[in-house]
Amino acid sequence: IIVIALFIFVSILMGVLCCQISRQRKHVKYDSTPQDDLDIDIDKLPTNSCYHKLTECSKFNPKLQALEYPRNSIVYIRDIGQGAFGRVFKAKAPNIASEDNEHLIAVKMLKEDASDELQQDFQREASLMVEFDHPNIVKLLGVCAIGNPMCLLFEYMKKGDLNEFLRLNSCDNYIIRRHSMDFYSEHKPSLNTTDQLYIAKQIAQGMLYLSEKGYVHRDLATRNCLVGDNLEVKISDFGLARSIHSLEYYRGSEHDAIPIRWMPPESILYNKFTVQSDVWSFGILLWELFSFALQPYYGMTHEEVVQFVKEGKILACPENTPKQVYDLMKMCWSTKPSSRPSFHILLKSLNVLYEDYQKKKVLSDLV
Ligand code: ADP
Repeated sequence: IIVIALFIFVSILMGVLCCQISRQRKHVKYDSTPQDDLDIDIDKLPTNSCYHKLTECSKFNPKLQALEYPRNSIVYIRDIGQGAFGRVFKAKAPNIASEDNEHLIAVKMLKEDASDELQQDFQREASLMVEFDHPNIVKLLGVCAIGNPMCLLFEYMKKGDLNEFLRLNSCDNYIIRRHSMDFYSEHKPSLNTTDQLYIAKQIAQGMLYLSEKGYVHRDLATRNCLVGDNLEVKISDFGLARSIHSLEYYRGSEHDAIPIRWMPPESILYNKFTVQSDVWSFGILLWELFSFALQPYYGMTHEEVVQFVKEGKILACPENTPKQVYDLMKMCWSTKPSSRPSFHILLKSLNVLYEDYQKKKVLSDLV
């Protein structure tokens, strides 16, 4: 009996011990990482997208996701401007466009202290730009939405914005510059009426495309157009642009920064933005183009401009502007939106005028 009892006792003891050991093993979660002779090939580590936070817009927009470009591959060249969203700088982006290895780009970088509203506008601009593919609309080539700050990568337009380009090419500036700055003395004003018409018709082409796609730009002005080689001009700055697909017009908010001098009465008074309000702005842009970037209604305060426009008065014809061009401006400034010409008609008229002037040029060259 004693032997059997001893056997049973020892068996129970061993059973309890085994249970204890296996329970202890379960509590050990992992083996400690071996520290010696650690040889990790970083390149072979799997990429884990959870490491990175995507900005809201690219999370839901597959077209933007497809444009994601690794920010570390951007090679900074120099600052070129300061926009509403933050810095703009010139850079190289290897392989961003298939046809060119060392593509030059303009990087728009959202400032770090950007308000939520500004961030949304920036993201909205990206979501809009990705929809456009037209030779007269600046092309969005890439986005850096993974990590911060968010950057938009645009094709680089060598000659900068149209407003500055016009100022540089105005005869008045030429005389002032020749006397004061040797640096610019080689830069002779080189824009003639044919060139101005060529610029105007490119912008009309871009605006026709935009209106046909159901968008209003809301901030069409020479400062928001860019110039490249051979007088190539593209519309940019879509921060205020909106789709009017579902509505016949877009109603702005009272917080919008509004370019009064480019706006028709119905936009100033009722925040109403339509393709026809873009046509009014196009008329003002034509005026800027032919006055070599004078400020519309210069010498007047904002309040005086509002009063002037409300009374149905319009800008005077800039010097050396063909009558037909001023007639187009006046049509764009019709008080009744439906009386303004469409971009289709504007483009047709500008094409005819451009061809006439080209022929005149050929004739005068022959004489
Ligand atoms: P934001 O949209 O932030 O207001 P802008 O579009 O006004 O910025 O850009 C500021 C300046 O940077 C412009 O006036 C222009 O001189 C320059 N810039 C912007 N985009 C380009 C580009 N694609 N190529 C060359 N210069 C550019």
